[in-house]
Amino acid sequence: MTDPLKDLSFKTLFEAAADAMLLVNDKGHIIRANAVALDLLGYSEKEISSLEVEELMPEEYRAQHHHHRSAFYRKPEKRSMGSGKALSILRHNGEVLTVDISLSPMQSKRQFYVLVTLHVADRRNQAEEALRISEERLMLAKQAAGLGVFDFDSNHNIWYWDERMRELWGAESNEAIATKQFLTAIHPEDRAAREAALDRSIDPAGNGEYSAEYRVTNPANGVEQWISAIGRMHFEDGVAIRLVGVARDITEQKILEKNWQTHRSETEALFAQQVASQTVSAIAHELNQPLAAISAYSEVALHALQNDHFDQKNLRQALDGCVKQSQRAGRSLHELLAFLQKGELITEKLNLNNIVLESLNLAKSYGYGEFQLELQLEPDLPTILGHRVQIQKILVNLLTNAVEAMRGAGVPTAAITIKVSTNAELNMAHVIVQDSGPGLDAITANRIFEPFFTTKHNGIGMGLAISRALTEANGGRLWLEPNVKAGAIFHLTLPFAP
Ligand code: ADP
Repeated sequence: MTDPLKDLSFKTLFEAAADAMLLVNDKGHIIRANAVALDLLGYSEKEISSLEVEELMPEEYRAQHHHHRSAFYRKPEKRSMGSGKALSILRHNGEVLTVDISLSPMQSKRQFYVLVTLHVADRRNQAEEALRISEERLMLAKQAAGLGVFDFDSNHNIWYWDERMRELWGAESNEAIATKQFLTAIHPEDRAAREAALDRSIDPAGNGEYSAEYRVTNPANGVEQWISAIGRMHFEDGVAIRLVGVARDITEQKILEKNWQTHRSETEALFAQQVASQTVSAIAHELNQPLAAISAYSEVALHALQNDHFDQKNLRQALDGCVKQSQRAGRSLHELLAFLQKGELITEKLNLNNIVLESLNLAKSYGYGEFQLELQLEPDLPTILGHRVQIQKILVNLLTNAVEAMRGAGVPTAAITIKVSTNAELNMAHVIVQDSGPGLDAITANRIFEPFFTTKHNGIGMGLAISRALTEANGGRLWLEPNVKAGAIFHLTLPFAP
């Protein structure tokens, strides 16, 4: 009988093998790879036949492998590489495969070869290992976040709770969990909200997301904890069958939230109180000057009436003054209320030179007219955009403050310089109000724009605070020039109309 193997060449067997095989020469060059090897490693026949075996290894093993290869040639014997351990091999696309490698020396007449057989390590083992690692990571993350896992099979009414869930609900390790037990532990006030969250997740038209926060009373120790649970409902044929999710203790966060809320309402109450008192002060500030003027006019009128032959003209003027001042006080109050209620600011194109002149007249009508005036207007000043009454108010405040400062210090010559110009650098209209009063020391200067700051015994301390707020509402800035040697210099800028 003839030997059947006689008809089969090495090449035929090499190609027919179920495992990936490489034929490598004594220089480490790959001479040939069978079809399985080409498929496994992702090379064409041509590409692989120009490679050294080391090129199939991750870089860190290459240098060492040269030594192993020389050792193998010195003592060639059939054996598995890496003492039976799974080894890494590189595919053409850089992917790393885990393989078992066995080496068989082959000697032809002239040449020495090694037949390398690659056996892909059990894919199932690899998948299991990957799964184990991923589960381990998940468990560590779960532990770090203090998460409990729940899984509710609603078809069979079966609950799965991990140890952490049991801890949160105060259930024993091996105790079967019943829906009733789960529900009774939830705070009665939170049951409806949790129920609603569940209903939303059950709705097949929704996305199956479950998210609820509720209090749970641990039956073991009676301690109440806030729980946040999130999960996803699974559906089968449009019917909710299984809810899987995680829960965590958020008690600390809830306590912080509550403290913060209490703190916030206290702050809000304080703020409301402050706003109320600032509003009252602002109103008082608005009424102060007209009331003083009305009182002065009334005295003139009374005085005239006491006289049997009173001068009708004088009396009319005095009463006329009373009417004008009271109407103005009323208008002022309306304007102020509109401003405080943050109603929309109605601006118009204005001639700032005219507003300065109007403000001087107004100050005079309040009894703040006696001073030497140096007025430098800019005749062709472009129009500004602002609220007429508010800008008048700012200027009147600056003028009355200047007069009061000069009166208080009893300066021999009360003088005020007003300069209106274009500030090219800021591209704004610029008003400077300078007086010959005592000026301000550094400490006072730092505080004058604060509400209620006053150095006058009958002062309210709201004038400059309101003036600055009005200026900013009009898109401008108001400041005091620092370190002035004599008197006080206030600067007011306002935007030009576009
Ligand atoms: P009030 O006039 O009611 O005091 P203001 O807010 O208008 O309130 O002014 C605050 C303080 O700024 C004044 O009390 C005063 O000390 C100081 N002040 C304002 N303008 C001048 C000025 N031209 N010269 C000196 N001090 C001034």
